[in-house]
Amino acid sequence: MHNIYLDNIATTPLHPTVLDAMMPFLGKQFGNPSSLHRGAAGPRAAVERARGQVASMIGCDSEEVVFTSGASEANNLAVKGAVWGSGRGVGRVLVSAIEHLSVLNAARRLGKMGYEAVELPVDRAGLLDPDDVRAAVGDGALMLSVNLVNPEIGTVEPVAAIAEAAREKGIPFHCDATAAGGWLPIDVNELGVDFLTLSAHNFYGPKGAGALYVKGGRRLVPLVDGGPQEGGLRGGTENVAGVVGMGAAAELAIDALAAVGSYLPSLRDTLIERLTGSMEGAVLTGHERERAPGHASFCIKGIEGEALLTDLDAAGIAAASGSACSTRALKISHVLEAIGVDAVLARGAVAFTIGRDAREADVEETAAAVISSVARLREMSPL
Ligand code: PMP
Repeated sequence: MHNIYLDNIATTPLHPTVLDAMMPFLGKQFGNPSSLHRGAAGPRAAVERARGQVASMIGCDSEEVVFTSGASEANNLAVKGAVWGSGRGVGRVLVSAIEHLSVLNAARRLGKMGYEAVELPVDRAGLLDPDDVRAAVGDGALMLSVNLVNPEIGTVEPVAAIAEAAREKGIPFHCDATAAGGWLPIDVNELGVDFLTLSAHNFYGPKGAGALYVKGGRRLVPLVDGGPQEGGLRGGTENVAGVVGMGAAAELAIDALAAVGSYLPSLRDTLIERLTGSMEGAVLTGHERERAPGHASFCIKGIEGEALLTDLDAAGIAAASGSACSTRALKISHVLEAIGVDAVLARGAVAFTIGRDAREADVEETAAAVISSVARLREMSPL
């Protein structure tokens, strides 16, 4: 049985070139970059080279890249670090209602510590209106965080306009670009962000490696106090192999972007057309046009998303129900709730995220498998 992998939002496979770049740092080049002997020079140079590669991917200076253990840590560092860095003990923390839990729960945690966490509503396509940001600032907010691409519904937020609203109001703006990195071009200056999150395993790099862009001069309080690594913003011996892998993956991502932008949207649209065109009660979630190039997400009436996934899995097709992170919680996703999907329909949520190596035939086979599974499930289902 062959496999069709359409869960690239949960993670992507490690690219062989990335693995090759990492291997020396899991072997002979084991030195600690902070050491003073000659065994440290290679790892130290490799970390700095990777910093430059990640900086090139998002159009910033190397010194503005802080390596972390992934996007969850980078998001926590941005949200809590910016709020604590403001030096004010109270104030509003603004996040969109469809943020990844690592942003949402960081804001909610601050909410329990005396700050006011405000979850900004989005429209039915998942878009946040920059005017709502202006209105929500009130007497002054401490920071704002909005994702570039929502991982569950694929919507691309108008981040440049949102950043402008934040700038007008003088509040630091963080953008979680985890679901966009490697799939859409990202330029931090064009976007106008102060902080931006990336995760290597979302663009064919290793798990456990991420980065936060910190615009020069922006104040952040570190979450991990320790040594002087990462400019004092993240203590701890660097995950050299992971960082090197992230750098190599960033370089490949830059090269792959043009191709990704040219063929993924048509594969995505074929899948959307096949499913919504031939199945009654299959609704696209997220924005029709402003969506990530390989992202197709739906709510399908009369079925449970998990049952559909099980059928697809048996047919060698990997997809996702809600976000990989909330699936285990077996609750209706906060994202679907925020865009106004009713609770019963939300049970039929499924998301396909098409990767770099996908072919037309994979999409056609997937569409056929979904249609046949849905017919079978609806026949059995009491829903
Ligand atoms: N933000 C978004 C938008 C995500 O999709 C994810 C999960 N890939 C994360 C943050 C958390 O990423 P990580 O697994 O690197 O902590």
